[in-house]
Amino acid sequence: MSTTFVCFRLGFDVAAAGFAYVILIALISVLGSLSASIVLSIASAACLNYFFTQPLFEFRIDSPQDVVAIAAFTTTSLIVTALTTAVRRSAKAAEASQQALIDTIPASVWIALPDGSREFYKRSWQEFSAADSPGHEVAMLHPDDREYVVEKWRSAVATGEEFEVEARVRTATGEYRAMLVRAAPLRDEKGHVVKWYGVSTDIEDLRRAVEALRESEETLRSAQADLAHVNRVATMGQLTASIAHEVNQPIAATVMNAEAALRWLGAQPPNLEKVRGALGLIVEDGKRASNVVGGIRALIKKVPPRQVCLDINEAIREVIALTRGEAVKTGVSVQMELADGLPLIYGDRVQLQQVILNLIINAIEAMSGVAETPRALLISTGQAEPGGVLVAVRDSGPGLDPASLEYLFSAFFTTKSSGMGMGLSICRSIIEAHDGQLCASANEPRGAVFQFTLPLQRDETLPADHAGPMPTV
Ligand code: ADP
Repeated sequence: MSTTFVCFRLGFDVAAAGFAYVILIALISVLGSLSASIVLSIASAACLNYFFTQPLFEFRIDSPQDVVAIAAFTTTSLIVTALTTAVRRSAKAAEASQQALIDTIPASVWIALPDGSREFYKRSWQEFSAADSPGHEVAMLHPDDREYVVEKWRSAVATGEEFEVEARVRTATGEYRAMLVRAAPLRDEKGHVVKWYGVSTDIEDLRRAVEALRESEETLRSAQADLAHVNRVATMGQLTASIAHEVNQPIAATVMNAEAALRWLGAQPPNLEKVRGALGLIVEDGKRASNVVGGIRALIKKVPPRQVCLDINEAIREVIALTRGEAVKTGVSVQMELADGLPLIYGDRVQLQQVILNLIINAIEAMSGVAETPRALLISTGQAEPGGVLVAVRDSGPGLDPASLEYLFSAFFTTKSSGMGMGLSICRSIIEAHDGQLCASANEPRGAVFQFTLPLQRDETLPADHAGPMPTV
C-alpha cells in the first residue's frame, strides 16, 4: 500500500510504478513465501490498473499501451517469483544434501575456530557429549586422557600443525569408547588459519577386534608350543627302548671298570696305574650316560622359547647321541660331515634339536622299510648362501613320492600306520620362526634329502647365553 501511495504521490507513470512493484515482489519472494509473492503480483497488477492507467480509479484500461505495460508487468513479476523460488529451493536442497552427507558420514564431524573453540559439531556428537555448550568436550574425555589431549590440541592450535589423537570419550550411557580424533587447518591465502575441520571416528569396535585377534594369536601360539612339545615327547617316547640301551652301555662298562679297579687294588702290591686307568674310563662312561640323560631331559622338559647363540654342529652331535641306539637297532650307519668354522647362529636350541631329531627319525623309519640296500644316513652342515648355515639330512630310503611332495609339510599328512603327520609341519614352523627355510628333495642316487637354512646370528656381540624373546611355534 505504501509503495502505491508513494508512487502515486510522485506521479509515476504505469512503467515506473511497475518497476517499483517488481523490486518489491523480488524482495518478498527472496524473503517470504511463494504464495505471498503471487498474491502480491496480482494485487500489484490491480493497483497499476486502478491508480496508474486511464481512466484513473476504475478497473478499466482504455489505452493499448497500458494493456501491454500491465501484461509485461504481470509476466515479469511471475518470472521473478518463479526464478527466486527456484533459486531458494535449490539452495535448500544443496543445504539438505550437505547435511545428509554430514549426517551419513560414519564419524563425528566438527569445526573449530582459529582459537580452538568449537564452532559446529555434528548432531550425533551429542550421543557422546550429552552437552552442547563449548568446553564440555574436555569433560567427556576419560580423566586419564584429558591433560594429554588438551595439551596436544593447544599445541596444534598454536603451531597450526595437523592434529591427531586417540582418546576415550564418554557416551551418553556413561560407557567410554575409544575415538580417533583428527583435525586439519583451513588457511587463507596469507596462510592464516581460518578454521579447523575435524573428524572423530569411533574406533572402539576396531580396537576390541584387534585385541581379540591378539589374544587369539596368543592362544594359537601357546597351542602350537604345546603341540610341538607333545610331538617332541612322542618322538622321544619312540626312542625309549634304544635310549635305555644307549644309557645301559656306559653303566655296564662302569660296573666292569669298577670291578677291574677293585681287583687291581686288591693285588699285592696294588697296581695303582691300572686303577687310575679304570677310574678314568669310569668317569668318561659316567659323562657319556649323563650327557644322554641330560639331552633327554632338555628335550622332554617344557621350557619357554629361548634364543641363544649356538653352535649348530654341537647341537647336532647331541641329537646324534640320542639316536645312535635307534640307528644301530635298525642297521643304519650314521655319518657326519660337519663343516669347521661355521658361524654361530641365533635360535632356540631345544626347538632346533627337535627339527634335527624329527628329520633323523623320519630318515631311519623310511630306511627301515627298505630291504637289502645299505641303510646310510648322512648329516652334513655347511655355509649357506648368502650367509648363515645349511643343515642337510640325507638317507638311502625309498625317497619321496612325487604325488605327496605337495602335502609333505601339511599338518596330519602321514603315510605311516601309526604316524601323526605333525613332525614336518612343526619342523617347518620352527625353521620359519627362525627366519630360515626347510625343504625336501630327492637324494642321489636314491633316498630323500631334507635341508634347512638358518640365518646368521643377528648381533655378533650377543653373548652365548643371551636369552631373548622369540616367536613360539
Ligand atoms: P609322520 O612321521 O608322523 O608320518 P611327518 O610329518 O614327520 O609325520 O612326515 C610326513 C610324511 O612324510 C611321512 O609319513 C612320510 O610319508 C614322509 N617322509 C618324511 N620323511 C621322509 C623320508 N626321509 N623319506 C621318505 N618319506 C618321508
